[in-house]
Amino acid sequence: LSERLSGIFASIRSKGRLTDADIDKTAREIRLALLEADVALPVVKAFIAQLKSRVKGTEVSQALNPEQQIVKIVNEELVEILGGETRRINYAKQPPTVIMLAGLQGAGKTTLAGKLASWLKKDGHSPLLVAADLQRLNAVDQLKVLAERAGVDVYAPEAGSGAGDPVQVARDSLAEAERAGRDVVIIDTAGRLGIDEEMMQQARDIRDATKPDETLFVIDAMIGQDAVSTAEAFRDGVGISGVVLSKLDGDARGGAALSVRHVTGQPIMFASTGEKLADFDVFHPDRMASRILGMGDMLTLIEQAEAAFDAEQKEEMTQKLMEGDDFTLEDFLAQMQSIRKMGPIANIIKMMPGAAQMKDQLEQVDEKQLDKTTAIIRSMTAEERRNSKVINGSRRLRIANGSGVTVNDVNQLLNRFKEAQKMMKNMTGMMGMGGGTKATK
Ligand code: GDP
Ligand code: MG
Repeated sequence: LSERLSGIFASIRSKGRLTDADIDKTAREIRLALLEADVALPVVKAFIAQLKSRVKGTEVSQALNPEQQIVKIVNEELVEILGGETRRINYAKQPPTVIMLAGLQGAGKTTLAGKLASWLKKDGHSPLLVAADLQRLNAVDQLKVLAERAGVDVYAPEAGSGAGDPVQVARDSLAEAERAGRDVVIIDTAGRLGIDEEMMQQARDIRDATKPDETLFVIDAMIGQDAVSTAEAFRDGVGISGVVLSKLDGDARGGAALSVRHVTGQPIMFASTGEKLADFDVFHPDRMASRILGMGDMLTLIEQAEAAFDAEQKEEMTQKLMEGDDFTLEDFLAQMQSIRKMGPIANIIKMMPGAAQMKDQLEQVDEKQLDKTTAIIRSMTAEERRNSKVINGSRRLRIANGSGVTVNDVNQLLNRFKEAQKMMKNMTGMMGMGGGTKATK
């Protein structure tokens, strides 16, 4: 029994480590999953490199095979990267808070302006939408329709689309917000299908005229590999304080999220998932990570494997402790010694079914007590250790003299041993393993 006992504890303590081969094999699969999700290649490379260094030497959970283990780490890492700095809107101390939207044409800025206004309004704010996209035909009308649905006002030049100076409109909107008592100003800006200097200059001018508290970069999740160059251009051209991913209702796997996060270093704050005002939510890193990995099922399996393993391990430990041999004084000593060596692992034993009774005993195992116990048991003959019933009065005296303790100490030890024996029997009985009849001699 003592051998088995220490074997169990050893296996708990000395878990294996992930090998280079495990890591390389799984890293290849992760790399493919990321590329398929349209994460940009340089981002994939950086991610895999970082992953390898984190995973190397990681202890293997016994519940998972190495591949599952790595996928689990990848998922955790992704969630952390995508959500490490998730935060709410940075409101101005002195209202109005200015939120400027930037991004390519068609990214979903105008739609987002309406969604954000609606969301903020429900949150107790009084937003003002500002039409600073005077380039695209109908842009102002589009914003007006959305504003009406959201139940908020629009600030726009009288003449409508195609007329007026967007920078002037943006600047004037701040005074209007103050006059009308609006605490948040959302500035919709113009985009181009590709990045161009004129558009960037205009965005910069609007930025300088309004000093936004937030500059949200809106990007279409379907953009795929172009995410990096687009994000870089806006990062350098205008400056970005947060990211909004749009069109996540499409079938894009969402690799753009990782690319943009990597390039801008700014948090992804919101996700847009449709054309309706309500298709909008704060960003959920965990959902995004599963989506990018395309391994949602795998992750569920991993969780199940871990849960099942916990249960299995407890049962196995109990079984190994109980089955077969009788519990002897030698086992008792070995148990004491391993419990003391275990330290915090004693907590694992406390988790075992029926171990509540063992708690007292675990607490009795202090150093001095253990030295005494060891000395006493070492002074016994092999027969006495195997069968404590033969230890009569004269043997007790002999053992006490041999180990330098009193007869009373020997008696106490034997009493504790008997209790332990009884407990083992009870535990076996409780586990329904039919071992109860053979646990004592
Ligand atoms: P902007 O050019 O950046 O202002 O983009 P718009 O807000 O005008 O959006 C361009 C198109 O994408 C419009 O037809 C929107 O209805 C649509 N759109 C915007 N956001 C979403 C979204 O999250 N999901 C879907 N399916 N369509 C969206
Ligand atoms: Mg627009």
